[in-house]
Amino acid sequence: MTKTNFTALLVEKAGEKEYRRSIVNRSLEDLPPGGLLVRVRYSSLNYKDALSALGKPGVTKNYPHTPGIDAVGEVVECLGGAFAPGDPVIVTGFDLGMNTAGGYGQYIRVSPDWAVRLPDGLSPRESMILGTAGFTAALSVWKLAGAGIGPEAGDILVTGASGGVGSLAVAILAKAGYRVTAATGKAAEKDFLLSLGAAEVISRDEVLAGSDRPMMKERWAGAVDVVGGETLVAAIKSTRYGGAVTCCGLVASPELSMNVFPFILRGVSLLGVDSVQCPMASRLKVWEKLAGDWKPAHLESVVEETTLETLEPKFHAILKGQVKGRVLVKL
Ligand code: NDP
Repeated sequence: MTKTNFTALLVEKAGEKEYRRSIVNRSLEDLPPGGLLVRVRYSSLNYKDALSALGKPGVTKNYPHTPGIDAVGEVVECLGGAFAPGDPVIVTGFDLGMNTAGGYGQYIRVSPDWAVRLPDGLSPRESMILGTAGFTAALSVWKLAGAGIGPEAGDILVTGASGGVGSLAVAILAKAGYRVTAATGKAAEKDFLLSLGAAEVISRDEVLAGSDRPMMKERWAGAVDVVGGETLVAAIKSTRYGGAVTCCGLVASPELSMNVFPFILRGVSLLGVDSVQCPMASRLKVWEKLAGDWKPAHLESVVEETTLETLEPKFHAILKGQVKGRVLVKL
C-alpha cells in the first residue's frame, strides 16, 4: 500500500497526572495490526471517550493513544473478504478507542469481527448520531422488551434523560410506542425532552424522594437507568410488580446499596446492559431495529457537530453532566 498520512487526535502523558491532547499527522504504520482498514468519516463523543482523552483511570492503560469508541466509514481493505473495499461499516465497542487507536483518527485498523455493515435505512452521519449511546439505549429497550415489558405495561422511567444514552432512550421508547417519563437535572431541557417524545418530565429529586425507605410507591413498569447509585436504587424500589430496570451507567456512582425486597416481594428484575462485548448476533438485530421501526424521528435535533479541533471543551463538559444529547465528530 502507498504511504497514507492522516490526521488524528493524540493523547500523551505529560506529567504525573497530566495529559496533553494535540492533532497530529499519522501514517498507517502507526495503526495496530488487524484485518480491516477503514477510512473513518464520523465518530462521536461518549462519556468513556472523555475519560480516555483526559487520562482518567479505568479506560485507557497505555498512552500515547487516540480515543474514539465509535467510528463509521468505508472499508479500504479487508483480509478474509468479509467486507469489500467501499463497503460502509460501523465499528463500536470491543477495544476500539480503549487501548486500540480509535475513531478520533481518519483511519482505524481493527479485527473484521468488530464491524457491522451499515444497515439500509441509516446514513453514516445518522449512525454516529446514534453511536454507542444510541446502541446502548436500544439494547436497554431490547432487554426490557425481552423481559416482557411492552408498551402496554405502563410508564417507563428514563434517568439522565438529557444526556446521550438518556435522550436516545427517550426517543427510541417513544418511537416504539412506550409512554416515557424523563428524569433530568436540567429543568431548562423540559421542552427538548418533550420534543423527543417524553410524555412527562420530572426532576432528579422527584425520582429520589423517599428512596431511604425499604420500598417506594409502585410507579414504573420499567426503567432505563444511566445514573447508578441512589438513582438506580430509587428506580428499582419504585418499579411495579413484575417490572424490570436496566442498568448501563454510573455517572453518579458505581455503588448499589439496597435491600432485596423489590426483587423478592415484587419480582422486579435488574437487567445489565453492556454494549462493549455484546455478541454479534444481538448487535446486528439491535442495529437493524435502530435503522427500522425504532429509528428516532428527529435525530438531527439531538446533535451538535464538532471536529477534532473543536472537541476539547466537550470532554470537560460531558464529565460534568453538561452535554445535551449527542456530540458528533466529523473526521
Ligand atoms: P452523558 O454525560 O451524555 O449523560 C449522562 C447524564 O446523566 C447527564 O447528561 C445528566 O443528565 C445525568 N447526570 C450526570 N451527572 C449526574 C449525577 N451526578 N447525578 C444524576 N444524574 C447525573 O453520558 P452518556 O449518556 O454517554 O453515558 C451515560 C452513562 O452510561 C455513563 O456512565 C457511561 O459510561 C455509561 N455507558 C455505558 C455503556 C455500556 O455499555 N454499559 C455504553 C454507553 C454509556 P440530566 O441532567 O438530564 O439528569
